[in-house]
Amino acid sequence: MNYKKNRADNYASPSSRSHTLRSRKPLSKVKKRQSSISDFDKLVKTASEVPTQAYQADRCFNEMPLSSFTKKNLSAKGYVKPSQIQDDTLESLLAGKDLVGIASTGSGKTAAFLIPVIERLIKSPKSNTALIVVPTRELALQTEQEFKSLACQMNIFCACFIGGTKINKDLRKLQQSNHVIIATPGRLRDLVNQRALSLDTFQMLILDEFDRMLDMGFVHDIRSIVKDMTSRKQTMLFSATLEPNQKAIINEIVRNPEIVKVDDGESTNSRIDEDIIHVPEGADKMKVLIEMISGSEFSKVLLFTETKRWADRVSKKLNQSGVKADAIHGNKSQNYRNAALLKFKNGGIQVLVATDVASRGIDVHDVTHVINYHLPLTYQSYIHRVGRTGRAGRSGKAFTFIN
Ligand code: AMP
Repeated sequence: MNYKKNRADNYASPSSRSHTLRSRKPLSKVKKRQSSISDFDKLVKTASEVPTQAYQADRCFNEMPLSSFTKKNLSAKGYVKPSQIQDDTLESLLAGKDLVGIASTGSGKTAAFLIPVIERLIKSPKSNTALIVVPTRELALQTEQEFKSLACQMNIFCACFIGGTKINKDLRKLQQSNHVIIATPGRLRDLVNQRALSLDTFQMLILDEFDRMLDMGFVHDIRSIVKDMTSRKQTMLFSATLEPNQKAIINEIVRNPEIVKVDDGESTNSRIDEDIIHVPEGADKMKVLIEMISGSEFSKVLLFTETKRWADRVSKKLNQSGVKADAIHGNKSQNYRNAALLKFKNGGIQVLVATDVASRGIDVHDVTHVINYHLPLTYQSYIHRVGRTGRAGRSGKAFTFIN
């Protein structure tokens, strides 16, 4: 079924249908945060008829100034040519320059910063050399996975520290020698405050999804981390957007950086078909949703809700209607979130319901649809959500419910 603008008006019969979602404390009574999105035309777009030419580098990794170990691991991962951010940044990062990379998830930014880190460690394998700070647990785990495959059989090790897990385990990991630490800001601060980890030997700092870290209120943590890194020689900062209000803090952190922009962060990718669905106040949005996703093309749907409670509620309702679904959000344990994500990746569930925060860093290549059950608070957040589909050269569809 091809839902188009206003198509869902067919379901609009406010007088005859009351909202089916009822909560202990009615969610309708919960004060709604107002979305700043008012121009709905921005949420409607037809994917380019002509598929966008993915960036084609003029060189293969084999022709780049990299060690044979790295080349071997890149080839084992099936990476033949660099993505644009990798191609445009390699030499200056190998030379130790600071970088501000404007690139969103899907651009290959993780390998763009990991490759120079690994090359440095091959030459000089010192513990606690590189610190990678990312906003979410999922992104931390994905970065760890990417590191492990790129540094495979090199005797270079990393440890990953994230919230929602037992800190004692982290303390044990810190007894071993780790060349790279990947962490979310909160847990990192805890470890530093407990004097389990000292940041003064780290030479390289990577701040990934910096804009998101600021959005999530980590600005003080970041300042404090930067201050503690007294041996810091190189900083790579990646952000999907470069808003004027971020400039001051970026200037505090990086020194004379190379600025490389591969994605302006102001639009969604051209392989994504986007549309809005009008469901008037009082109409049965859940019914519209269930009918919509019964189409066979909706095989891997990432659905966003405004709050954790709504995420649970929508997931429960979907399961009750026979649609396999699960929810991830900040109140779920890390183990639960990992298991749900794995089920989603493996096709064990059709719909993964998520809040914005939990969704960051979800790297599932074949998400067929993104559905905004609630309007995101900002257009930036919309771009991040929609960017979970149409990845790795595939096409994707995004629908946003509005009333
Ligand atoms: P990222 O933007 O780092 O989240 O990467 C997005 C996806 O692209 C990940 O699944 C990577 O495994 C993949 N990827 C990164 N670099 C390359 C490359 N040079 N060739 C093919 N795939 C890549």
